[in-house]
Amino acid sequence: MAKDKDLLASLSDASTESEFFSPIPAGYKKGKPRYCFVVGTVMSGLGKGIFSSCLAKLMQDKGLKVAPIKLEGYLNVDSGTLNPFRHGEVFVLDDGMECDMDLGTYERMLDQDLSKANFATSGQIFNSVLHKERHGDYLGRDVQMIPHVTGEVKLKLRELAMSSDADIVFVEIGGTVGDLENAYYIEAMRELAYEEGPNSCCFMALTYILEPKTLGEQKSKAAQLGIKQLMQLGTQPDIIACRASSPVTEKIRQKISVYSNVPLDRVISLEDSASIYMIPAVIAEAGLDFKVARLLKIEERIDLGHERKASAKWCDFTDKIDAAKREVDIGITGKYTSVRDSYASIINALEHAGIALGAHVSIKWVETTGLTDANTADKLADVNGIIVPGGFGMRGAEGKIACVRYAREKELPYLGLCFGFQMAVIEFARNVCGLAKANSTEIEPNCTEPVIGVLPEQKKIEGLGGNMRLGGRDVELKSKTIAWELFDKAKSVRMRFRHRYEVDPRYIQQLEEAGMVFSGKASNQPIMQILELPNHPFFMGTQAHPCLTSRPLRPQPMFVALVAAAMQRRCPNEEIPGCVEVVQKVCAQSS
Ligand code: GLN
Repeated sequence: MAKDKDLLASLSDASTESEFFSPIPAGYKKGKPRYCFVVGTVMSGLGKGIFSSCLAKLMQDKGLKVAPIKLEGYLNVDSGTLNPFRHGEVFVLDDGMECDMDLGTYERMLDQDLSKANFATSGQIFNSVLHKERHGDYLGRDVQMIPHVTGEVKLKLRELAMSSDADIVFVEIGGTVGDLENAYYIEAMRELAYEEGPNSCCFMALTYILEPKTLGEQKSKAAQLGIKQLMQLGTQPDIIACRASSPVTEKIRQKISVYSNVPLDRVISLEDSASIYMIPAVIAEAGLDFKVARLLKIEERIDLGHERKASAKWCDFTDKIDAAKREVDIGITGKYTSVRDSYASIINALEHAGIALGAHVSIKWVETTGLTDANTADKLADVNGIIVPGGFGMRGAEGKIACVRYAREKELPYLGLCFGFQMAVIEFARNVCGLAKANSTEIEPNCTEPVIGVLPEQKKIEGLGGNMRLGGRDVELKSKTIAWELFDKAKSVRMRFRHRYEVDPRYIQQLEEAGMVFSGKASNQPIMQILELPNHPFFMGTQAHPCLTSRPLRPQPMFVALVAAAMQRRCPNEEIPGCVEVVQKVCAQSS
């Protein structure tokens, strides 16, 4: 075996003479980055992303640089084509990457913008291997799962470590141990740990403790078998987090410890929590953050002063969660009403706004199929505000337009997101501008008043398949508007987009003359991105997805304004602290 100091160099030897092959990015410094791997056993949906992001947050609080990455087993190159009904929402990053909703959890928890370097799928990995094969990069070798495909995974991880200058890279492997499609990721992490040397990597397994109602006690066998499967793949976990509906008993933890060679103090209970924002405290309580630092031998990089400040801020925030008691009901219309994951970012953004205002936001799902002007009042009778979120296609669109009309006419606080922005334009065109036939060409391709359509320059690239406007853009704010007030009179604000249709510029003047204000636009292009109605408690729409950039400590202003207006509508005669200031901002620009 090569001497340790030469190991990485010999590994990159891509010749037919050597069995070693592990591409190392130029300038990579072994020992600088450490790696934490998070895998799941027993079942998916355990909240690996939540666990990993909470632990990463605790390490970040200690002044360490962290970089998360999610490795997906599926062959899609990105998440853009995935149905949110099956996979949860498609999260869009600033660089336009369409990815798994877990990336949203990392961005929120770490208050950090991520990029395509933080997300990989088997589709991407294989694409890249096949590309290299066609370019002759493997020098006549037969291209194999090991070392070439696993080599590609390790390359991706090391590149992220370098580009982010991370102290710790948090690697979350999608699915569960035992899935055929993620087996090579698990192999790659085993190899990486060997190549990087002792104390460079920490392996964490999430598992689930069953508690069948008929038995009335916790059972650990499924968890044991899951961990055994991981060990059979050559990986010894360092930490086991036991997910369960109630606190995991010491006896169960002991059983798992004996079975897995993991010391009892590193087998922790991670029972269900009312808010994910409480989980960092649960992990810290178990001392897991310092245990990880010790395992990775990076205690000397910890800045305790930094940690004190960061955790004080976080505690202020979590205290507010407990204190957020005022009830407010927000209706969300949508066709994926049965799967809340498809609206994860909106739910989070409402929670952030509610906490900032001392409110607990209850969400009422409003199915819009079959809704008309005649029956909308009944459906919306008990909500204090409404969101029409993003969507595609015609199902339920007329019902959404009926909801917009009700909100506009009955002064119900309204926030339209992307599709909801477009529905607000159609409603206004029909019922205020008198364009009875107004519609979107997405819903009615041959419509005679296409107030929403695909712009010619977008049409040109349609043939190439990349016809969605994706990712972060600067939105120019019009001064003396509600949006401008809400964003503290900024010139522009960065928002994220994922759409293909937009307001047809031929109708802008007519809409504005009838009273619609376009308060946010793309610079130098006639692309309308925020609309608002003055003289309404709160009526705003945006072509963007502002929910994607709401963060616990920096709630998104449009959501804050919606919740504040809804709280005020619920208690019209009360001066609600915190709420008044926001409502005043909205009113400041109403005639
Ligand atoms: N379907 C609309 C469009 O493509 C809205 C998209 C969305 O809501 N994300 O423009």
